[in-house]
Amino acid sequence: ERERLARLRHTPAVTLDGQKIELIANIEMPEDTVAAITAGAVGVGLFRSEFLFMGRQGHLPDEDEQYEAYRRAVDGMNGLPVTIRTVDVGADKPLDEARHDAAHLNPALGLRAIRWSLADPSMFLTQLRAILRAAAHGKVHLLIPMLAHGSEIRQTLALIDQARQELDRRGVAHGPVRLGAMIEIPAAALSVRMFLKYFDFLSIGTNDLIQYTLAIDRADESVAHLYDPLHPAVLRLVADTIAECRAQGKGVSVCGEMAGDVTMTRLLLGLGLRSFSMHPSQILSVKHQVLRSDTAKLALWAEQVLASDDPASLMPR
Ligand code: PEP
Ligand code: MG
Repeated sequence: ERERLARLRHTPAVTLDGQKIELIANIEMPEDTVAAITAGAVGVGLFRSEFLFMGRQGHLPDEDEQYEAYRRAVDGMNGLPVTIRTVDVGADKPLDEARHDAAHLNPALGLRAIRWSLADPSMFLTQLRAILRAAAHGKVHLLIPMLAHGSEIRQTLALIDQARQELDRRGVAHGPVRLGAMIEIPAAALSVRMFLKYFDFLSIGTNDLIQYTLAIDRADESVAHLYDPLHPAVLRLVADTIAECRAQGKGVSVCGEMAGDVTMTRLLLGLGLRSFSMHPSQILSVKHQVLRSDTAKLALWAEQVLASDDPASLMPR
């Protein structure tokens, strides 16, 4: 089976009805680009940059260190696009014990991801400058996690402008980026039209979107049985986000675990998804599904799944 899949590495991911599907990789460290390329990924859809920040006992990577790391990822992809997500610490990814403030009683609802970045603009500007500098060396997409509010979007965009100006003032080379937002909070999924006024593309973080839609802590074993990607409300939010992006001709991807789950591939294709970002180890299995799929037929079936009170009952076993 492994060998059979390996032969698909250079096969383009095209459905039976000729739809080109983008299969891209989630990575945590620059060296993971090797696995991404080996699996035939056509880009990085999610570089979880927080892994550069974790376990550092207080001192965070400075601009140059971050720039080197982002640049290594860009170089590692040989000209293919690399989507760098700004830090998503807090909640299940504490920086280190010392900084994991016990005062945050409910870390998943607390100061995590973009909220954490906006609370420390100088740290955030450092990361933005490093990413913009790496963008001088290849195609870089800048992805912002956990946005919900228009005010957060505007603050973030202002800081990106400021980071550019600071580099210009220093005479340091930087490059253009495509700007994306993660859709991880139900409020964001319900405000996609607002998001699309500001962003070039959206990436649906289903891990958190499921957690927040169902009020199920994704890290809590005692409620894991209720963590249901097929809950009708979750599917509705995912479907509407994809549909609105497509209607506006904007890029949309899924980068949560759902994208690498082969039992979900056909449903996501049916919902109109054409870009899947996942752990490199899943890419060939998902491609295998893509090659056997007819999106026109799947779209009709997906409509039924969406309308069902029990979507799981309509899924193939
Ligand atoms: C997600 O929430 O689906 C996601 C991709 O981000 P993370 O798993 O890093 O929170
Ligand atoms: Mg997330």
